[in-house]
Amino acid sequence: MSDTPAKTPAAAITISMHQHDNVAIVGNNGGLAAGTMLPSGLVLRERVPQGHKVALVDLAAGAPVLRYGIAIGYAVKDIAAGSWVHEQLLNMPAARGLDNLPIATVKLAPSAPLEGYTFEGFRNADGSVGTRNILAITQTVQCVAAVTDFAVQRIKAELLPKFHNVDDVVALEHGYGCGVAIDAPGAEIPIRTLRNISLNPNFGGEVMLVSLGCEKLQPERLMPPGSIAIHDQRNTTDGLASTELDVVCLQDDAHVGFMSMVESIMRQAERHLERLNARVRETVPASELVVGVQCGGSDAFSGVTANPAVGFCTDLLVRAGASVMFSETTEVRDGIDQLTARASTPEVAEAMIREMAWYDAYLNRGGADRSANTTPGNKKGGLSNIVEKAMGSIIKSGTSPISGVLAPGEKLKQKGLTYAATPASDFICGTLQLAAGMNLHVFTTGRGTPYGLAAVPVIKVATRSDLARRWHDLMDINAGVIADGSATIEQVGWDMFRLMLEVASGRKKTWAEHWKLHNALVLFNPAPIT
Ligand code: CA
Repeated sequence: MSDTPAKTPAAAITISMHQHDNVAIVGNNGGLAAGTMLPSGLVLRERVPQGHKVALVDLAAGAPVLRYGIAIGYAVKDIAAGSWVHEQLLNMPAARGLDNLPIATVKLAPSAPLEGYTFEGFRNADGSVGTRNILAITQTVQCVAAVTDFAVQRIKAELLPKFHNVDDVVALEHGYGCGVAIDAPGAEIPIRTLRNISLNPNFGGEVMLVSLGCEKLQPERLMPPGSIAIHDQRNTTDGLASTELDVVCLQDDAHVGFMSMVESIMRQAERHLERLNARVRETVPASELVVGVQCGGSDAFSGVTANPAVGFCTDLLVRAGASVMFSETTEVRDGIDQLTARASTPEVAEAMIREMAWYDAYLNRGGADRSANTTPGNKKGGLSNIVEKAMGSIIKSGTSPISGVLAPGEKLKQKGLTYAATPASDFICGTLQLAAGMNLHVFTTGRGTPYGLAAVPVIKVATRSDLARRWHDLMDINAGVIADGSATIEQVGWDMFRLMLEVASGRKKTWAEHWKLHNALVLFNPAPIT
């Protein structure tokens, strides 16, 4: 992959991803100055920043600029070899249509199962496994958020210390529930997202709700009878009927004064804490991991170091029988032909096309397309456009067959590699992967983001050694060693796999857990607001 193993820190490092590439990215921290001679003998005509592209050959106007072996754009004008190929020099290719795609054409030889790997997890009554033991308090509407938060602060201070096996208490705060067109097409997405998050394996089936009373999203609509499958199977001994929804309703006539509401929430919480406290970790196979992978604050190294290492680890997880989800529709849209080809069956490919078409129409309604994805930071980090970003993002999915597709907010029911269709927005993607049942999250970043979630451990992977050095107490893994030439993609992928088992077992905390960095849940609501 690397043209030049770095012999000394001063040696020029350029990285190309495919033998047909006519550009390479500069690996050196701080970039390379004009006049620098590359190992090939090519001399840079101008300064090229780190992560940015240099033309390896003369490119005529209109010629394809090839990275990852595909055209990430077309030269706007003649570009001489040794020039900096930045975003203003590229015309972006049109998005690939959704017709005539290769359907399940890649026939992969089955890879050898990876056996013998385990972690210590909390087995739930429905068979799912938690990596943490958390009381979640679900809310039907934003109106109750501040009251719930007040109660949660008191629960943490007064109750949680009595329940040593419980890791945390989390209020599932969100902006939905009222002032929304609740019957409009698309409204089912935020509603099922919230429902399925409440059933995340880390919450042990202990669902309790706080409701206002007059809101559109009534408790019975959020949690219809039978939806609390985990709780249904529990043998309750505390008088709470097992199928009965546990709701604290603030407008209930019984409440006189604010403290009545707070104490009611605390009383209900204590019953759930008692049951959660009885949970104990047991040894379970690695196949019980449900891993969501995503990236945020990407740079040109994302697709060179961190994401390929995640992709290698994804393949290990699939071989171990685990569930892995990759997402971020606008970041895979430009690779749709690779994905439909890798679908395990024509039905999976068709489901993928259906989700992409839905998202194309969603963006189109808003007068946008997938090119709205890239950020100023992406571009500063060397990513010229969404095509280049997508090629680096898609690598997180590894090389395994894609055996399932989830629509936004749906719950995952199968093992193997699944495409969970979500927006690329970090918080919305993470929220939807939580709803799918994720019990471990892997997040790669090149520009750097302190992202974390309250409900699951988030393992953060830096794409560059400089970021890992500066953010040494925020990044859990440095994949920059791949670009430095001091470790291989395979080595970092294996390290990641082993770290996952340690973190899942509770033996190690991620930095986001250590500092309690918890980003908001952000529901994806494509339906109108009233
Ligand atoms: Ca993202």
